[in-house]
Amino acid sequence: MYDTIIIGGGPAGLTSAIYLRRANKKVLVLEANVCGGQIVNAQDVENYPGYAHISGFDLSENMRKQVLELGAEIKYETVLKVDENKKVYTTNNTYEAKSIIIAVGSKNRKLKIANEDKFTGRGISYCATCDGNFYRNKDVAVIGSGNTALDDILYLSDIANHVYGIVRGDSYKGELQELEEIKSKSNVTLYFNSVVTELIGNETLEKIKMNDETELEVSGLFVAIGQEPNNMMFKNVVDIDEKGYIITTDEVKTKTKGIYVAGDARVKILRQLTTATSDGALAATYAIKEME
Ligand SMILES: Cc1cc2nc3c(=O)[nH]c(=O)nc-3n(C[C@H](O)[C@H](O)[C@H](O)COP(=O)(O)OP(=O)(O)OC[C@H]3O[C@@H](n4cnc5c(N)ncnc54)[C@H](O)[C@@H]3O)c2cc1C
Repeated sequence: MYDTIIIGGGPAGLTSAIYLRRANKKVLVLEANVCGGQIVNAQDVENYPGYAHISGFDLSENMRKQVLELGAEIKYETVLKVDENKKVYTTNNTYEAKSIIIAVGSKNRKLKIANEDKFTGRGISYCATCDGNFYRNKDVAVIGSGNTALDDILYLSDIANHVYGIVRGDSYKGELQELEEIKSKSNVTLYFNSVVTELIGNETLEKIKMNDETELEVSGLFVAIGQEPNNMMFKNVVDIDEKGYIITTDEVKTKTKGIYVAGDARVKILRQLTTATSDGALAATYAIKEME
């Protein structure tokens, strides 16, 4: 019997583990892949306090080592199901705990075209807030039609030389007011009924080609076509919104007592390292309080 089982060894889950271990709780982290989560793939992180620059890999390794040094257990197993009695079923085993913290993050939806993986981190980004600064005074494009795409275009228009907005349909689905602001910007061009079909470059992205053969020379392509949360396996113990994110009260509490959610997996405004680690700390604190 563990005090707390944490599902997911990303920044949220590992932060929970740090707080729980410092309160002397028996902790198991279950991680399906590698510790660090999404940030493992970030070439350079510039917005995490305390580090002006750090690679996502180094940051992840620091977190993992800190958690192990504090005495948490990490097992590399994929969680399949959780029940209201705080039993956790993985591909290999069944575990039991007094509380559970779900920290399984989410994944960015991909374009699914050739060279996407090759240029990820070398011109292709799924997070303008994270990577926009690397494209200062360069030309970039943003794919997507929702609020995130509009936010990204606005954000990048203050950093980049020129921003191309590319939409599959004939309109944006995000906030009208934001769209009006974008239209007033002299360094933004919008392409409607357009689909990116080719990603061209050598080491890094240099050009994109669209369905009507138009080619745009860009150093950066920001993909804002939504996220794919992976929460359905928890639907018996938590409420899930129409996009697949876990609905909470008090930021990290779910509808089941003793089951918390931290990080990108939950409904929230900003999915970043700082908000994930903040959630991790809060979820652990609630879990500790409840146990005591
Ligand atoms: C390329 C890239 C660059 C980024 N750069 C920045 C940046 O510079 N600054 C910034 O603030 N943010 C950045 N982000 C966003 C940041 O990485 C995320 O907000 C943060 O990682 C979310 O943390 P999390 O712990 O909630 O989820 P995740 O990081 O997604 O971690 C979830 C973990 O849970 C595991 N998991 C999932 N399902 C299961 C299961 N069933 N069983 C067991 N384990 C499971 C996953 O393998 C993963 O390790 C970036 C994201 C990406 C993709």
